[in-house]
Amino acid sequence: MIEMKDVVFEYKSYMEEENLIAVDHVNLTVKKGEFLVVLGHNGSGKSTLAKMMNGLLLPNSGDISVLGMNTKNEEKIWDIRQKAGMVFQNPDNQIVATIVEEDVAFGPENQGIPSKEIRKRVDDALEIVEMTSYKKHAPHLLSGGQKQRVAIAGILAMNPDCIIFDEPTSMLDPSGRAEVMETIKRLNKEQGKTIILITHYMDEAVQADRIVVMSDGQLKIEGTPKEVFKEVEKIKELGLDVPQVTELAHEIQKSGISIDEDILSIEELLNIL
Ligand code: ADP
Ligand code: MG
Repeated sequence: MIEMKDVVFEYKSYMEEENLIAVDHVNLTVKKGEFLVVLGHNGSGKSTLAKMMNGLLLPNSGDISVLGMNTKNEEKIWDIRQKAGMVFQNPDNQIVATIVEEDVAFGPENQGIPSKEIRKRVDDALEIVEMTSYKKHAPHLLSGGQKQRVAIAGILAMNPDCIIFDEPTSMLDPSGRAEVMETIKRLNKEQGKTIILITHYMDEAVQADRIVVMSDGQLKIEGTPKEVFKEVEKIKELGLDVPQVTELAHEIQKSGISIDEDILSIEELLNIL
């Protein structure tokens, strides 16, 4: 779905002599249908990486291709942005219309899709995010989780193969977070969408197929959730937490009680104990 080869991105600095290297020689392949989580402390380069995945930013060196289309190819940029949609942190910044269904229709309208097709896409997208009964509502009256699901529907209506989520739950309360996570998983499992999720919630990260951990613009750890969270000390050195239950298992292990398995859920630890 997405291939990044030796990608470097620098922000120009007008105050200092040297530019800031936000993404530093990253190689990353995202497979079709994969659910990938990107972790990393603040300023580690996650958002910059995400914006390069759909051509919002272009690398200073290296190449990125989306379904074989190079993001540097200006003729393909709209195809790329349609195939790889992006959902951001704050739903209020992503909602443009005053009625839910009009908001969801905004993307396909701009793509010049015939109105009959737009109608179907809007209905389908609202159905998938379970917001059909709110289609005539005003977005500003919805909860954070509902607004974010409307924003997701707006991206879905453009028929992407891949959706990149940049901390989509960080402004939501726990129930909103859970709603949005359920929606993201459904998009992956039922709709076959490739998902790239940037998050700082470890309970969300454990649900991915694969995790990459960034620090100082580089990919430092990569693997399945079990493989990644096994590296408790290393993860902490990179300024991140492991899931609470993983940490508890790690401490029990350190105290001399042998726990053979890598623990990611309360059920797993309970069984072993
Ligand atoms: P993250 O999403 O992991 O917090 P970012 O990709 O936003 O990281 O930022 C990576 C680095 O680039 C940080 O040091 C940040 O301060 C810097 N940066 C981000 N956006 C800009 C910008 N528009 N101009 C200059 N520096 C930026
Ligand atoms: Mg960010």
